[in-house]
Amino acid sequence: ETHSGEETVELGRRIAAALPKRAVVLLIGNLGAGKTTLAKGIINGLCAADPDEVASPTFTLVHEYGEGRVYHIDLYRLDRPEQVATLGLDEIFDRDAVVLIEWGERFPQLMPSDRIEIRLDAIGDDDRRIVVTPPGV
Ligand code: ADP
Ligand code: MG
Repeated sequence: ETHSGEETVELGRRIAAALPKRAVVLLIGNLGAGKTTLAKGIINGLCAADPDEVASPTFTLVHEYGEGRVYHIDLYRLDRPEQVATLGLDEIFDRDAVVLIEWGERFPQLMPSDRIEIRLDAIGDDDRRIVVTPPGV
């Protein structure tokens, strides 16, 4: 559990330290749950990108950090699998990179089965329960 956005950023840094260099990570939770906030910490931990420079990828769907070591993708604005297919995700999944995806659970057939899932739930104004599930569980 975290109790502020900054705590969630810090948790993201700790998760980053535990990730393999190649992973697909679904960030799952409602709007405002803290998916982008957690992504900022993971990205900062992996490649020292300034969290303030991590934009919400809602308008640009795919953001790349650390010379291709990290991708941050937000599928919120896409409705149909055919739209997602135009992003070329399979090619990104094949890279030696950590790929963070918001709203990826809406397109399960397009996500790799060996993915890490992180669920975020708001349990109070500033309180979030964050659960990490490794692949195959
Ligand atoms: P999402 O990407 O899931 O829509 P964001 O990370 O963009 O969510 O927004 C989360 C919002 O909730 C931010 O305004 C953040 O400051 C606020 N917040 C408050 N407490 C927390 C917390 N414990 N963890 C993450 N965000 C929090
Ligand atoms: Mg977001």
